[in-house]
Amino acid sequence: LHNAVIKSDKIEVVSHLAASVSHEVRNPLTVTRGFLQMLKDPSIEEEKRLYYLNTAIYELDRAETIIKDYLTFAKPQSETTSTICVQNEIEKALELVLPYANHFSVKIKKDLMTGLNVIGESSKFHQCILNIIKNGIEAMPNGGDLIISCREMANNYASITIKDTGCGMSAQQLAKLGEPYFSTKAEKGTGLGMMVVNKIIHDMGGTVEVKSKLNEGTQFKITLPLNDIEKRET
Ligand code: ADP
Ligand code: MG
Repeated sequence: LHNAVIKSDKIEVVSHLAASVSHEVRNPLTVTRGFLQMLKDPSIEEEKRLYYLNTAIYELDRAETIIKDYLTFAKPQSETTSTICVQNEIEKALELVLPYANHFSVKIKKDLMTGLNVIGESSKFHQCILNIIKNGIEAMPNGGDLIISCREMANNYASITIKDTGCGMSAQQLAKLGEPYFSTKAEKGTGLGMMVVNKIIHDMGGTVEVKSKLNEGTQFKITLPLNDIEKRET
């Protein structure tokens, strides 16, 4: 009997996840459809056309992020671990968000040390960096600076710092950061991004530290154990 109870609990969790995913993904898909529909008009101005296209792409990326964030919990071990080059992963994530950053007049500044390798699932690490960068940009709807750096620390750890000059968080908001479904972005947010970040980094043996000041900005500092073997070989 006990076993049966546990099983039905698990089914409940899965169906809750499935319901949330379909609900959350519907918004970006509806928005994308609307913009594609408008793009059918041949007399559309070039500037508007670009805006519609970029928004459609952004919304599709958002749908993908939502699905990936949920999958991190629904399918905990989906990929094998490998060596990850921290600098490469950051560069890839920055390339993806560049149109989004430009749209909000966010300037990206980077200071990336080369040759830092860590161990993990690369797509999850990518997701994690992307989630933090996106939060940073979303905190600066009227522009600002996103400063991202990675360096080696003394104790064979790497540190990654992602800093924004955005809206910041109050002490109460900061305390809730990472709680499932905590979001200040209404229907635009899922409140899963930070939960995913914490889980991925902790699974990699690292830590996440957040400092924030309302109306001044936020800084995320990630530390991760370096892959020694790889370092000695290169
Ligand atoms: P979402 O982005 O979908 O709202 P997240 O888990 O990524 O969910 O973030 C949860 C909440 O934490 C956000 O809604 C926001 O209120 C706050 N937050 C996260 N990152 C930042 C940041 N860089 N600056 C200000 N607030 C942030
Ligand atoms: Mg987010």
